[in-house]
Amino acid sequence: MADIIQLLPDHVANQIAAGEVVQRPASVVKELLENAIDAGATSIKLIVKDAGKTLIQVIDNGKGMSVTDARLSFERHATSKITSADDLFNLTTKGFRGEALASIAAIAHVELKTKPELDDVGTHIKIEGSDVVSQEVIATPTGTSIAVKNLFFNIPARRNFLKSNTVELRHIIDEFNRVSLAHPIITFVMFHNGSELFNLPESNMRQRIVNVFGGKTNEKLVPVEESTEVLKISGFVGKPEFARKTRGEQFFFVNNRFIKSSYLNHAVNAAFEGLLRDGTHASYFLYLEVDPKSIDINIHPTKTEIKFDDEHTLYALLRSSVKHSLGQFNIAPVLDFEHNSSMDTPYNYKHKEANNPVIEVDRSFNPFKNDKETSRKSGVTFKKEPVSSWESLYVGLESKGNSSDAFSQLQLESDEEMPSMFEKANDEVTQKTFQIHGKYIVNTIKSGMLFIDQQRAHQRVLYEQFLQHITVKEAVSQQLLFPLAMEFSTMEIAILLNLKEQLEQTGFVFSKLEGDEVEISGVPVSVEASKVSQVLETLISDVENEVPDNHFSQTDLIAKSLAKSLAIKTGQSLSVQEQEHLVNSLFACKEPSISPTNRATFITMKVEDIDKKFN
Ligand code: ADP
Ligand code: MG
Repeated sequence: MADIIQLLPDHVANQIAAGEVVQRPASVVKELLENAIDAGATSIKLIVKDAGKTLIQVIDNGKGMSVTDARLSFERHATSKITSADDLFNLTTKGFRGEALASIAAIAHVELKTKPELDDVGTHIKIEGSDVVSQEVIATPTGTSIAVKNLFFNIPARRNFLKSNTVELRHIIDEFNRVSLAHPIITFVMFHNGSELFNLPESNMRQRIVNVFGGKTNEKLVPVEESTEVLKISGFVGKPEFARKTRGEQFFFVNNRFIKSSYLNHAVNAAFEGLLRDGTHASYFLYLEVDPKSIDINIHPTKTEIKFDDEHTLYALLRSSVKHSLGQFNIAPVLDFEHNSSMDTPYNYKHKEANNPVIEVDRSFNPFKNDKETSRKSGVTFKKEPVSSWESLYVGLESKGNSSDAFSQLQLESDEEMPSMFEKANDEVTQKTFQIHGKYIVNTIKSGMLFIDQQRAHQRVLYEQFLQHITVKEAVSQQLLFPLAMEFSTMEIAILLNLKEQLEQTGFVFSKLEGDEVEISGVPVSVEASKVSQVLETLISDVENEVPDNHFSQTDLIAKSLAKSLAIKTGQSLSVQEQEHLVNSLFACKEPSISPTNRATFITMKVEDIDKKFN
């Protein structure tokens, strides 16, 4: 048999290696920032366009590279950081594999400008898919600038696999935050599509955290300090009363490198035991220093996992020092009764006056007189209202006129299929809808009975309404007398900026959206001003928790999130009109049978099934 094994050409090997190092634009950001830090830079600038899909550029004032080094830096296993295998056990630099630049150059258009301090002129190299296109002498400041353009240009499958700009930018900001928090003494600036997202001057740890996460963070931090022979801990934990439902602000740095460790996370959580409200997560920014010989960071190519020699001691030390700090700063458990959202009134009813129940007694009632009219007067019988009665569920909505249009349009589209399910609406037929357990609406239909889950049904209705607004016709916005000012972290603001256009279509009006401030001067008619911050927080956390494998559509995610936040909840009692309104709106939907999260909105029970139960 002929020989069939061949050595892969370099550019193919590099592309394969690239798959391990570069998963998404954020991986490039991480590698370039770390190289700049290893080069001793004191000031680093990150410039990103289109969430890194078009451009990622890092400019540093570090030590730069000689002509030969500049060329060599793109070779695989080319590194200045280790010279022997022994060095692997005593690492003080971020990089050491010599793989990043070679990998990046294999799958993008890369432009490098670099100059060491003592040289008069620098080097300018252009590489496209591992091919050196040009190498020239250039006048450039001391330090290095690497621009990575058109990432994955030669691997369309990878490029198509990238998520929306919102998601990719979130990953980039995550990396940027991790690196900038690990190095408060380095100045960092970040631009996205021409606007400055972060400007972090040289500072101390606390100031850096505040600069990254916004002014209000300062009052939330409790310092943690501990020094032993094996471990030095410094940093901060968030006061328990500020704990949030999103898991966002949890950072471990080991020897100034961000790491993930569920084991150490457990240690911190153990220290917080009994102090956190259900469903909330402690935030922490903890800097650990250990002997580089006692850890192995070589176990993962992207280097966020780490192996400690003596995990148990670390665990115990970490837990006790966090606990000590929480105690010392007098953080007593906050007695706070969990707010039960199911007890909220639906958005438009809060301002309605409560009506005292009226008991009408029909003194002329004669049980022996067979008169249909009598039961009508008792106040518990309702005429089947015409379809338009559903508008009453959205008090205030119809006055704006617009959204009911959206519904009638939806209704038209489904009219043909749905109405036959109900018995002919007949003015003389008495009311057929009632609610059980504040949860289900029961309705009689031709074939038997219909049980509707009110919360899921309303989610479906709102979901289609928001989708309609975002994609087809803008909703009318309700002007607020006093604009709402809110504070979010820069990261959250970046997420909101990316969602802004679509949110505006639903009726939100942002009078300010920059730095760490949001000001809202208009809201969708279906949203109460008091709920706005909760709605936006949920939306941000939904974007953050978006399952990576799901096909991601921003519009869909917004519509889902708003519908989830705003739908009437289980436990909410509904008047008959509201029930009918909901039922009618549900069956006017394009897909009435499932909730936005693919759960059944109703079930039916046939008369035959009921008959069987009586057998
Ligand atoms: P590693 O960081 O693992 O050594 P890289 O591929 O990231 O591998 O970089 C290869 C080499 O290029 C580095 O070892 C370093 O000598 C040089 N280099 C990369 N980026 C810079 C930079 N911003 N400034 C100076 N030298 C750099
Ligand atoms: Mg590197």
